[in-house]
Amino acid sequence: MARPTHPKHMSPAEFREAGAAVLDWICRYWESIESYPVVSQVEPGEIRDRLPPRPPEKGESFPDIMRDVERIILPGITHWQSPNFFGYFPANASGPAVLGDLLSSGLGVQGMLWSTSPACTELETHVLDWLVDLLHLPDKFRSSGAGGGVIQDTASSATLCAMLAARERTTGFATNRQGTGRGLTAYASSQAHSSVEKAAGIAGIGRENLRLVAVDDNYAMLPDALERAVAEDLRRGRTPFFVVATVGTTSSTAVDPLRRIGEVCLRYGLWLHVDAAHAGSAAVCPEFRWIHDGLELADSYCVNPHKWLLTNFDCDCFYVADRETLVRTLSVLPEYLRNPATDSGRVIDYRDWQIPLGRRFRALKLWFVIRYYGAEGLREHIRHCVALAQDFARRIEKDGDFALAAPVPLNLVCFYHRAGNDITRLILERVNSTGKAFLTHTTLHDKFVIRLAVGSPWTRAEHIERVWHLTKEAAGDVRSAAGPDRGGDGDTSIS
Ligand SMILES: *Cc1c(COP(=O)(O)O)cnc(C)c1O
Repeated sequence: MARPTHPKHMSPAEFREAGAAVLDWICRYWESIESYPVVSQVEPGEIRDRLPPRPPEKGESFPDIMRDVERIILPGITHWQSPNFFGYFPANASGPAVLGDLLSSGLGVQGMLWSTSPACTELETHVLDWLVDLLHLPDKFRSSGAGGGVIQDTASSATLCAMLAARERTTGFATNRQGTGRGLTAYASSQAHSSVEKAAGIAGIGRENLRLVAVDDNYAMLPDALERAVAEDLRRGRTPFFVVATVGTTSSTAVDPLRRIGEVCLRYGLWLHVDAAHAGSAAVCPEFRWIHDGLELADSYCVNPHKWLLTNFDCDCFYVADRETLVRTLSVLPEYLRNPATDSGRVIDYRDWQIPLGRRFRALKLWFVIRYYGAEGLREHIRHCVALAQDFARRIEKDGDFALAAPVPLNLVCFYHRAGNDITRLILERVNSTGKAFLTHTTLHDKFVIRLAVGSPWTRAEHIERVWHLTKEAAGDVRSAAGPDRGGDGDTSIS
């Protein structure tokens, strides 16, 4: 039996005991999660002030460490898994995903090459092909053809990799060697995620060379405006090369018209990347697959199971139609990584599909989730969340004081109080200050808008009922505090 070299290492027997305690701790945490204020109440610096200034000289007991998790760390936790967490987009977790992650840690493999753990690579390739089936993605993204999928840490990395591959395709792989300066221009809607702008900076395109294309009344990209922007850049001697279309924008889950955008990209030879970080998971349900209409025109695609598909952060699934271009863009082969399997050309080395070299065995947790829930269980989860969000949206629509700020195609409701931005902002602050729910905001057409995203597997109808009443109560309190003169629309009645 393997034994640690040194008595200070944790033996398997000790690990068994401490591990059982940690699992038990997590179970108790999940069972009592509703008893905490959803958002951590600490002030900046408060957590550090409770930590000893210097690291311990002598090792400490595991129970002592866990006591400090409870005493010091827990107060500084915002409870993303709470059924009352409606902020941002969800960051789903689930039992099978946590256990898959734990197993991955226990195996402790580094899957940079096929040969450094064949199962790490092959399970990943296989599960990503499964996801093509589950989400009905175009066949071009399957590993059996010229394309394939890879797990990235985040959608931001996926978008950056796509932009780099597009840059190399456009410049004949010269930029990698000689640097930029060729007047490349990229395009995304004004509602695209900030990671696109970040990628344009990192990839040497320049943030100013990312054109933010206008959107329609529903915040979806206008393909004609895209085409005009591309034509204008061509006229000015620039080189359009890359378009990001978003399926489910971060502000309001607007869905860009992929087919018409894809046709523009075809006409001008542009790489189309589709960012479906949050909303893509909805395509496990046939009734939501319209969001991907036209996706077969894309060169690359990404979706984050770590947002809405019950798989703990981090897990972004990134697909390309032409893996050769991606691999040629990102591959390096130093002598110390040479091995017969790589030389044979018969294996995938995922280090060539991402920015870092090293990689964790993330496919395990996704495999666990898909097997544990089955397609049926995943569909139920998505449908449940969408139904609850739609219920909240109907309450907003029926209410005289509030209104929807954007269509609600899926699980995000954007709404505002008719008395204006200041009142809406105060209502949000008030709801959040109760600790009983957490919502975030955005702006749409200069309007301050509250966002309610439903994604937790623990959120039930009663939680929606409660956050609705909290919102109404907050509106009443804010309006009466504002007094008859400060309502914004002169309406003195207090509901
Ligand atoms: C959340 C989000 C991202 C960024 O996701 P990360 O995985 O955290 O990088 C990108 N695009 C959209 C549309 C998103 O909603």
